[in-house]
Amino acid sequence: MALIVQKFGGTSVGSVERIRHVAQWALDSQANGNDIVLVVSAMSGETNRLVELATQINPIPYSREFDMLIASGEQVAVGLVSLAINTEAERRGLLSVAGAKAKNYWARPLLGHQIGIKTDSIYSKARIQAIDTTLLKREIQKKVIPVIAGFQGVDPDNNITTLGRGGSDTSAVAIAAALSADDCEIYTDVDGVYTTDPRLCPDARKISRISYEEMMELASLGAKVLQIRSVELAAKYKLPLHVRSSFNRMEGTRVVPQELLGSKMEQVVVAGVAADGSQTKFTLQNIPDRPGVAARVFGALSQASIVVDIIVQDVPSNGRLTISFTVGRPDFLSAKQVLRDIKDTIYPEMVVVEEKDLAKVSIVGVGMQHHPGVASQMFALLAKAGINIKLITTSEIKISCLVDDSQMMQAVQQLHEGFELHKTD
Ligand code: ADP
Ligand code: MG
Repeated sequence: MALIVQKFGGTSVGSVERIRHVAQWALDSQANGNDIVLVVSAMSGETNRLVELATQINPIPYSREFDMLIASGEQVAVGLVSLAINTEAERRGLLSVAGAKAKNYWARPLLGHQIGIKTDSIYSKARIQAIDTTLLKREIQKKVIPVIAGFQGVDPDNNITTLGRGGSDTSAVAIAAALSADDCEIYTDVDGVYTTDPRLCPDARKISRISYEEMMELASLGAKVLQIRSVELAAKYKLPLHVRSSFNRMEGTRVVPQELLGSKMEQVVVAGVAADGSQTKFTLQNIPDRPGVAARVFGALSQASIVVDIIVQDVPSNGRLTISFTVGRPDFLSAKQVLRDIKDTIYPEMVVVEEKDLAKVSIVGVGMQHHPGVASQMFALLAKAGINIKLITTSEIKISCLVDDSQMMQAVQQLHEGFELHKTD
């Protein structure tokens, strides 16, 4: 008997038909002798629709009200999925609504606050701090399938918070860790984790097993198949993840500790290519070269909960400094506002240049740290395709280049082919 947490993403609950399929799948998994907990996302397209409504009212909508709004898609989904499970359980003769002693529900829909998914108060990027498993354990004991709303929690002041795009992955992993589940299955619309986004590159190949470290890099660099925090949490609790399709029964990708992958994996220099097409860049020119400039600028941005990614500071000339940095498109307007305030109050002579349509293309691989020449090969491949690099950043196991958004797909394909990722492992 195993306890399995199954997370279903937006496409997997995207229609009544898909929801019926989820219900059957959960009941089949239970019939195989397992305890099942479901975590579900909003139906596909719903969260975007809600964001669009909010931004029509206010283009900078990050706030309590925004989170309350965008958390609502999951409420619809857990209601429908639970309804479908109860109906299917009744059809299978498991559940008798009439019988006096019979259980009158097989699945129970639960919102984040109902099971005490406690988060901090950083709206739209909240972090889970604790989960109260009392109610969940009681229901699991009774063989009830809890159907939990992903993506949401509640802050110390009882406000509804959300965990950022892809946050249901993190809900699922956090719940699996809190319940010491045996397995956490992430059901999505692709067969697993690929060497790059299969939508960008037809040659992308499914990876059978990948380390937490590589998956974290791929996720943080744009492979939205898993939210980065879900992988961080899984690594912390050594919880194995199984990313697989809800459209077939094929084995997907196992995300596991590096030790389990053995030496063969070490030979792989580049494991995958990631792309993030929602980058924007600010260049601050003509700032006086005095101590504390970076602290002021980035302090103000972090105060506004803006995550800054790549930062480059040029050698000062004539006592003047240039700093460039990137932020994701959702933070663009807030960042612009913060910079306007800094210009008005501290550096009136500062010139702010903005570039909006940029993409970050990255290669990731734990083997890279022992292989010199990977960076130069990457730059050569991009150059060969006539792709101009605007910024570069590296770590031990990844290299990222900022390029024009319009060249992102070409860059991904060029790197995927150049590093021979289409070949079987
Ligand atoms: P869900 O709604 O199930 O959470 P997402 O849309 O968040 O699904 O994530 C799945 C998508 O991630 C895929 O449809 C695919 O386009 C994209 N993706 C990006 N990079 C990768 C990758 N390396 N492997 C698999 N899918 C990827
Ligand atoms: Mg997702």
